[in-house]
Amino acid sequence: MRVNVIGGGPAGLYFALLMKRNDASHRVTVFERNPPDATFGWGVVFSGRTLSILREADPVSHRRITESFETWDNVDVVLRDSRVSVRGNHFSGIARLRLLNILQERCAELGVELRFRTEVEDVDAPAADCDLLVGADGVGSLVRERYAEAFRPELGAGRNKYIWYGTRRLFHGLTLTFRAVEAGVFAAHSYKFSPEASTFIVECDEETWARAGLDRMADEESRAYLARVFAADLGGCELLSNNSRWINFLLVKNARWSRRNVVLLGDALHTAHFSIGSGTKLAMEDSIALFRLFAAGLGVPDALAEFERSRRPLVEEYQQAAHESRLWFENVKDYTHLPPPEFAFSLMTRSKRVTYESLKRRDPAFVAEYEASIKRQ
Ligand SMILES: Cc1cc2nc3c(=O)[nH]c(=O)nc-3n(C[C@H](O)[C@H](O)[C@H](O)COP(=O)(O)OP(=O)(O)OC[C@H]3O[C@@H](n4cnc5c(N)ncnc54)[C@H](O)[C@@H]3O)c2cc1C
Repeated sequence: MRVNVIGGGPAGLYFALLMKRNDASHRVTVFERNPPDATFGWGVVFSGRTLSILREADPVSHRRITESFETWDNVDVVLRDSRVSVRGNHFSGIARLRLLNILQERCAELGVELRFRTEVEDVDAPAADCDLLVGADGVGSLVRERYAEAFRPELGAGRNKYIWYGTRRLFHGLTLTFRAVEAGVFAAHSYKFSPEASTFIVECDEETWARAGLDRMADEESRAYLARVFAADLGGCELLSNNSRWINFLLVKNARWSRRNVVLLGDALHTAHFSIGSGTKLAMEDSIALFRLFAAGLGVPDALAEFERSRRPLVEEYQQAAHESRLWFENVKDYTHLPPPEFAFSLMTRSKRVTYESLKRRDPAFVAEYEASIKRQ
């Protein structure tokens, strides 16, 4: 089979290596506009469950990925200088670049043709030249745009502004910090993804952003301003930029997932708000789901139809949870008056996937702290 993949992110690389690993006679080519060592982004997170799926799919890349992991089981919620720790949440973090390098290396070992520094501008040509064209070209997908009539994408912007920074300050566990200043409330999502660095994503509503003057500030000024807002949390470490810019979350859905021999994967197909940390997980699970159908012997039309039929409900469930989570962050100023344990409880249960019962199983001490706080009211 001749497979062309546009986009060498987690979805594209992983699908390419799984196909080639399963059948060396496939000719698989990945077109990626960036060089292999482009450092866009900081760290990404995986939940414990994702890892067993990756192990089953390709034990070699699974081992290399998990060897590079920082792992934790706590979510720490910081509000008005009070820290509430909730245990029993198993996550791992890895530098996005490290993950990409592992997948690139594995592709090369297996004989996938990797064409870096190759921006695809005309999608029709690679689509005509193969049995299967995979559009794994990220949130701004050209493949999705080219065949928009067939995919019928639905795009929507989140209300909050956010920016993705790094820092040398090490945050052990997922740390969610809320700082109310004159301009409004800023939230930071931070976690260690290597022995030297953490991801530090800041978000706030558009009014806070404008009142703070962030709409008019250059990168250095923005970082200095936010370093002052989060001074107590950063312990003197600066915020590091990596092509960082303020954006609004873009929700992507598609009415159809494929068109003739063309299919979308990962962020090109669907996005889920970063506050549930599932983008990379969903992207790689898409790759596994589609690959398995080919490995089971289905031809292109049947595999693409079955991929959409079987995977859509799962993806929609995640998008729904991510939507609830996003709304919570967009309305955070309605919760910041709560005592810290109640605020943390509201935060933990925001997506409705975590309940009182499941929290009690994960961390009875936290639930006891929450109940004691309610009784004091
Ligand atoms: C602020 C923020 C925080 C996040 N945090 C997390 C997290 O904690 N955990 C998590 O799992 N996920 C997180 N994500 C999401 C995660 O980064 C993406 O969901 C994931 O990378 C999707 O993988 P992908 O392969 O579909 O797309 P991408 O990683 O975007 O890869 C697409 C690739 O296609 C290439 N490309 C695009 N167009 C072309 C073209 N025309 N020709 C050639 N190449 C092209 C791009 O250069 C890119 O390399 C976060 C995202 C953001 C923005």
